[in-house]
Amino acid sequence: MIGFEYVKARDVSDAVRRIASDPNAKFIAGGTNLIDLMKENVAQPRRLIDITGLPLSEIEDTGAGGLRVGALLPNSDLAYDARISKRYPLLSSAILAGASAQLRNMASTGGNLLQRTRCLYFYDTTTACNKREPGTGCGAREGFNRMNAILGWSEKCIAVHPSDMCVALAALKAVVHVTGPNGNRAIPFAAFHRLPDDAPEIDSTLAADEIVVAVELPAQGFARNYSYLKIRDRLSYAFALVSVAVGLELDGGAIKQARIALGGVAHKPWRIPEAETMLKGKEPDRKAFGATADALLAGAAGFAHNSFKIELARRAIIRALEQAAAGTPQSQSVKVIL
Ligand SMILES: Cc1cc2nc3c(=O)[nH]c(=O)nc-3n(C[C@H](O)[C@H](O)[C@H](O)COP(=O)(O)OP(=O)(O)OC[C@H]3O[C@@H](n4cnc5c(N)ncnc54)[C@H](O)[C@@H]3O)c2cc1C
Ligand code: SF4
Repeated sequence: MIGFEYVKARDVSDAVRRIASDPNAKFIAGGTNLIDLMKENVAQPRRLIDITGLPLSEIEDTGAGGLRVGALLPNSDLAYDARISKRYPLLSSAILAGASAQLRNMASTGGNLLQRTRCLYFYDTTTACNKREPGTGCGAREGFNRMNAILGWSEKCIAVHPSDMCVALAALKAVVHVTGPNGNRAIPFAAFHRLPDDAPEIDSTLAADEIVVAVELPAQGFARNYSYLKIRDRLSYAFALVSVAVGLELDGGAIKQARIALGGVAHKPWRIPEAETMLKGKEPDRKAFGATADALLAGAAGFAHNSFKIELARRAIIRALEQAAAGTPQSQSVKVIL
């Protein structure tokens, strides 16, 4: 590991001032991703700015019927909070489908948003990787690409975003609140992560001198009809091959509103609002769900080892929609005892 300085931010302004004045600095929260990247020499920050002492660990009412989650709240505390598990069980389920209990205790909300891809070649510094070292090429394209993207990839990069939590946040249309030298910004979740295009080294629209302070959940939590279905090689402690977050609002026998986000398939949680609108007013049946799955996967293209994901995703979308419609979610979230 290469030597680095360590400082502890006193408050949010101090954190912003420090990151803005040093392009080689990085924030550290739970450290469950950044420290691994430093140990592998993939990340080489000269200074770590520890933000764990900042007062950003609360869950507050927004006044608009939603909740505002502090960026430093550990993933476990978020998943097990009674307000979240009762009103946003989709989010609790997605978080609890990820990593391990120990990791979730350390991992923060902000860090989860900004965790980096698990592409094998990104971690292996002996191979070409445009995300790790722009302009060197992409080892995954002709390499072992079982975990890589089938949607939204570019010639430069076929990596996927590895988070489970973010798939639920995309379906819930969360908003990411950030602070920088020029003040505060609210970024709709769909605009927070980006596709690789010509600059795969940039994962998100967060500026280098900004800090995530909170994630806002809108009032609609789809608490009755939801499912988070994660397909992976092992039942626990494995990243998604494909995951699906679904929230449905039913009115009588018809669908009033639908949200669907996919994980494990693209450089960001994958949502196609037009595919969701197709379900409006429809009976929740297999025919309608199949057409929606086709719309979500339009243009999907795989590589030597991951083309199976296209059919896997289609089946997972239909199954998750059926589970949500029946009120029988795949992942049971936390039981709330009030
Ligand atoms: C073995 C293993 C298995 C895992 N399995 C899964 C899984 O199945 N599903 C899943 O979703 N995740 C999984 N994870 C990933 C885990 O969820 C992330 O490592 C974790 O969420 C990162 O949070 P952190 O607070 O530790 O981030 P850190 O490692 O502290 O930081 C990560 C990045 O975010 C930046 N950052 C942190 N906080 C902020 C902030 N407030 N503002 C701006 N930048 C910030 C840091 O500078 C750094 O670049 C796994 C991790 C490991 C090690
Ligand atoms: S897919 Fe992206 S992260 Fe993986 S090797 Fe290619 S450029 Fe690097």
